[in-house]
Amino acid sequence: MLSSDEWQKRTVEDGAVRCPACDALTVTMGACAVGAYTIYQEYVCENCGYEFQAMFGLIGCVPGHNNEDNDARGIVPPAGN
Ligand SMILES: [Zn+2]
Repeated sequence: MLSSDEWQKRTVEDGAVRCPACDALTVTMGACAVGAYTIYQEYVCENCGYEFQAMFGLIGCVPGHNNEDNDARGIVPPAGN
């Protein structure tokens, strides 16, 4: 079983969500709980049945699509990679 830190590091490196218990890529997304600055996404592993939640934290904001002047409030979209 990976620790939370180990799982987070590997998920970012792989660009894919794996089961922290058995390493399978066959995980199914469940419900998503949205808070003011955190989001919890439920997953169920189809291989071993392990249930876990990915926790996402607030890191910033970007303009929406309907602004006449995107930079009017000092919010600059992230640079493309
Ligand atoms: Zn699993």
